Amino acid sequence: MAIVVLKLPDVKRKTEVRPKKCKYCEGSTFQRWGQVNKPVKDVRVRNVKVYRYRCCGCKRTFRHYPEGNTSADQTKRLQLFAVVMWSLGLSHRASSLVLSGWKVLVSHMTIWRDVQEAAQQIKKHNQWKAVRILGLDGANILGWGDKQPVLVAVDLGTGEPLAIGYLNEYDPQAVRRWVAPLVQKHGITVIVTDDLSSYKIVAEKLQLGHQVCQFHVRRWVGKTLKELQETLPKEWLWVLEQIRQLLEVLPPDGSKTLYALWKQLPGRRSKRNQVRLALEQLRDLLLRLSQDWHTYCTFQSEPQVPWTNNATEQAIGRMKMRARTVRGYQSWPGMHAGLLLAASSIA
Ligand SMILES: [Zn+2]
Repeated sequence: MAIVVLKLPDVKRKTEVRPKKCKYCEGSTFQRWGQVNKPVKDVRVRNVKVYRYRCCGCKRTFRHYPEGNTSADQTKRLQLFAVVMWSLGLSHRASSLVLSGWKVLVSHMTIWRDVQEAAQQIKKHNQWKAVRILGLDGANILGWGDKQPVLVAVDLGTGEPLAIGYLNEYDPQAVRRWVAPLVQKHGITVIVTDDLSSYKIVAEKLQLGHQVCQFHVRRWVGKTLKELQETLPKEWLWVLEQIRQLLEVLPPDGSKTLYALWKQLPGRRSKRNQVRLALEQLRDLLLRLSQDWHTYCTFQSEPQVPWTNNATEQAIGRMKMRARTVRGYQSWPGMHAGLLLAASSIA
């Protein structure tokens, strides 16, 4: 769920509608069994009328709440309102302060619980939803103590976070163990990542399509080409220009072209312990690009696959913005809930 709040829930002061089913025995006939005036925390309503009913089947009694109310002190509207304030950037304490402006006293701990509850709703909603294209990216989030490495999985169909893992993206085994159940549950067929080797291993082992974010590729290849421009013997500079053009156009058969270029270059001459010559660096670059080329072009044959991992980075950006107030969380589950909610967009 993105918490799509187009409208806060209604809160009714009373209801004459009888319960439909007994919550204990599923019976459907009831006697009214008294009423109470329940004080509630809300921005507009102060009290609601709650009827008690007695089940004619099992003889037990229970409260039947009017719309927008539960056994909690706060109405559903106020709970969601607190979560929205928190999601927009206020701390738990600041959210509590804003509510006190309406003479509603809600402790920051209660708001913390509301935020946790909202995150649970997102988790529940996410649990079995179909996701075809998954963005993955690691991030370092301010946590309890040092920065915590987390792995963020985003549904690239919607841009919403699917899951956040407490693991390091550089560890291929850990990434695989974490991603495999997601693939099974949601039916993921393609992952979009930067070009860390761990993601290549995971895509191969799990037989997933793979698109490597072209912003990342252009950045590091651009940097390498610039260095080689200075160090490479002049007669080989034309190769750099070829690589630039290939990356610009991303032709599907680019791998072959790169491989052919690689074969034209002289083999390795430096010894193992020596620094590589510029020409050898160029050779390594050609081979790597040739081998990875298919992961640059997946988006061309699968139109819904984006050619960058932008949406994942945006979700991480939202998490980092909120990490300031998530930092106080004492445990991974608490932090996880806060980050998940923070990364969800609000419309
Ligand atoms: Zn009953």
